[in-house]
Amino acid sequence: MLSVQGLRKSFGPFLAVSDANLTVAKGEVVAVIGPNGAGKTTLFKLITGQLKPDRGQVMFKGEDIAGLSPHRICRRGLSLSYQVVSVFPRMSVFENVRVAVLARKRQVLRLFTPAVRLANEETWEILSNVGLADKAEVISGTLSHGDSKVLEMAIALGNRPELLIMDEPTAGMSPEETRAAKALIQRLNGELGITILFCEHDMELVFNLAQRIMVMRQGETIAQGTCDEVRCDEKVQQAYLGG
Ligand code: ADP
Repeated sequence: MLSVQGLRKSFGPFLAVSDANLTVAKGEVVAVIGPNGAGKTTLFKLITGQLKPDRGQVMFKGEDIAGLSPHRICRRGLSLSYQVVSVFPRMSVFENVRVAVLARKRQVLRLFTPAVRLANEETWEILSNVGLADKAEVISGTLSHGDSKVLEMAIALGNRPELLIMDEPTAGMSPEETRAAKALIQRLNGELGITILFCEHDMELVFNLAQRIMVMRQGETIAQGTCDEVRCDEKVQQAYLGG
């Protein structure tokens, strides 16, 4: 579904991503790990079009999307859920998700039209899928951090993604919220068939959720493989896991 080859991005003289390589097959859950500053967020921004690569290829469903604008990439079925919560804080939970649903359908909000009725139904479905239906009327800016991150995922689901990219989905969550988020990610993958690519510092979560792992260090992919392959990789042990 996704194949990244030789991706590079510099900010002035600083090379943030020097050589990123990654493959994600349909239906997989893949994690990107690496120390702070390794280039994980930059890689995700390059894949989703928020940054333009200096060189390299990003193939999504057989098409090179490197350098396309974020909305064009989004329309192809690739969504990003941000590390830092980026919802409309004064809108309700329901309205935040409905905006995403309407945007996908290229509809504006005209009350009482069939299109809005369908968007409302779909919004309820997403909210119940992620467990936020009982908070639909809550003003988003007043949600707990954990619920805001789940809302962030719900907004990404409004795009009906085939591939959902999540930048540290459980960052700042309590252990209980983390468990719920883990179950949610498994459900999105298992029941809704959404392919998932995420980066995360919580190694327990990574080894629990991911079928394959890609390891970055200083902008470069140093290993890629199953959890066991990566665990046993000498370069990874030296560079990252401290083994
Ligand atoms: P990670 O997500 O692995 O922590 P990042 O992709 O956020 O790493 O950052 C990789 C490196 O690129 C860091 O050293 C960071 O300071 C730098 N960087 C990221 N974005 C910018 C930017 N817009 N301008 C300059 N440097 C940046």
